[in-house]
Amino acid sequence: MNLTNYDEIRALLSRHGFRFSKSLGQNFLTADWVPRQIAESAELDEQTGVLEIGPGVGCLTVQLSERAGKVLSVELDKSLMPVLAETLRGHENVEVLFGDILKQDISALVAESLPGLRPVVCANLPYNVTTPVLTALIRPGCFETITVMIQREVARRICAPAGSPDYGAFGIFVQWHMETELLFEVPPNCFVPQPKVTSAVIRLKKREKPPVETRNEKLLFAVVRAAFNQRRKTLTNGLCSGLNLSREQVENAIKNAGFDTKIRGETLDVGGFAKITDELDKILSADL
Ligand code: SAM
Repeated sequence: MNLTNYDEIRALLSRHGFRFSKSLGQNFLTADWVPRQIAESAELDEQTGVLEIGPGVGCLTVQLSERAGKVLSVELDKSLMPVLAETLRGHENVEVLFGDILKQDISALVAESLPGLRPVVCANLPYNVTTPVLTALIRPGCFETITVMIQREVARRICAPAGSPDYGAFGIFVQWHMETELLFEVPPNCFVPQPKVTSAVIRLKKREKPPVETRNEKLLFAVVRAAFNQRRKTLTNGLCSGLNLSREQVENAIKNAGFDTKIRGETLDVGGFAKITDELDKILSADL
């Protein structure tokens, strides 16, 4: 069966009484080259254990199965159970788990289902939960690479350099943990039903250590969030209101880090944020 052929997928799904769910972000691929190119971009071999989120009818799953040691696919929609039983028949190295990826203990899942393998993620993610899913995949630090298709807008935010219009708190979080690469775009006409937006494939590679050092990582992310929560304010005003600090504390930290107190957060790279965080941390520790 050709799992990206529109007529074949439609016949398969209607035979099993399947209905597309918008709230589950169900846009299935109907262009042969896309799952192949996504799987190739994930740089897999026999030693790799792949976590896939949302196999759908399994078009990417079979590509992963042919290249990796093992594939663990987590699918929320139980009505795809008989469909996947049919399409993945004979793919002995695929395990399908029916459940919500956001409710899994991801480290435990990897240890149990992909033991002894190099863990990576490869998926065409449901777009409505891209940010929480990526956060949940990055936090445990157990994946060497994460190769995913997401909305182009989100892909640009994740890969954005300092000072660009797409630069923001989520991009800084991802770039803190992973090196980011925007690989290629996929137009809406490669899916059924067609999404309203263009998609893009990104590859994230785990960093050995963060790009810069900081005295207080938790405070760094609180500073970054406060800076971008009120984008149009100066960094001083954003940090005063966002972190409930006095103007004097914030201005001293920014000045001690070597910046002008009128600077805007979106112009700072992560090194700049780290310097200001460290100065703030010194002031707050001294004030205790
Ligand atoms: N991999 C298929 C493809 O490329 O054609 C389907 C991708 S579709 C964009 C997203 C898939 O994720 C759907 O099968 C959907 O049911 C599933 N899904 C949505 N939310 C999920 C969640 N929280 N946990 C696991 N799977 C989820």
